[in-house]
Amino acid sequence: MQGKTLEGKTALVTGSTSGIGLGIAHALAAEGASIVFNGFGDAQEIAKLQSDTAIQYGVKTTYHNADMSKPSEIAAMMAMAAEFGGGGVDVLVNNAGIQHVANIEDFPVDRWDAIIAINLSSAFHTTRLALPSMKQRNWGRIINIASAHGLVASAQKSAYVAAKHGIVGLTKTTALETAQTGITCNAICPGWVLTPLVQKQVDARAQKEGVSIEEAKKGLLSEKQPSGEFVTPEQLGALAIFMCSAAADQVRGAAWNMDGGWVAQ
Ligand code: NAD
Repeated sequence: MQGKTLEGKTALVTGSTSGIGLGIAHALAAEGASIVFNGFGDAQEIAKLQSDTAIQYGVKTTYHNADMSKPSEIAAMMAMAAEFGGGGVDVLVNNAGIQHVANIEDFPVDRWDAIIAINLSSAFHTTRLALPSMKQRNWGRIINIASAHGLVASAQKSAYVAAKHGIVGLTKTTALETAQTGITCNAICPGWVLTPLVQKQVDARAQKEGVSIEEAKKGLLSEKQPSGEFVTPEQLGALAIFMCSAAADQVRGAAWNMDGGWVAQ
């Protein structure tokens, strides 16, 4: 029987207290990786998340509360994660993200700045700080959680679409700069996943259109996602595990959509 593929490795997943990040953290832990959690939330719930993950998968876990819009806090988190990982992190998943929906002329400037900082610049900071130790070990996996919006646009999501297209670009440059090493960098581009980030958009739609939550979900899916089904955090976790595997050694600079057909249109 094959052993766990990430035993002895340390993974940092930003924004892993919820949604997709949490799903990916669980998938990595199931393969034996020690996990550094990050993200906002209730302190007791986060402590429980850490201990539940440690017990369920028999791995070490820790947590850093860095605000991903703040480079100095990101640097503190990376230093702590490196120490936890015995010199560096092996798997870096840049996942933390927020959304704001408005026409460009109404888009609050502070929301634009926050989205660019959290959804794009944070990945530059974590990557620049993770690469030296990955290069020393000649192994690493950097997985950037972009979006279908990293490949195509939607109205009223200017900052999000700009940040997600940006992170696809950052992924390609990182992949080129590491092409002759054991480090790979790829992006995952999910379609709709029913997480708190999307639930807010479902609720807003239900209210605006005076329809039920179920009808709002169907409306959201039918506009963009031909399968009519949400993608799940577990499916995204499985793709992340593939990207960490030896079979993916030559998958470099990809922007891999898992989106129910969204960008095929
Ligand atoms: P979510 O709201 O469930 O989770 C977001 C996570 O990021 C949480 O852990 C939150 O605490 C954390 N976070 C937010 N701001 C932060 C900050 N300043 N510092 C540190 N952590 C912060 O959202 P999700 O849907 O799981 O989204 C995760 C990623 O996936 C995002 O980058 C998002 O753009 C992307 N994505 C989501 C979907 C979707 O349909 N849900 C689709 C495509 C891409």
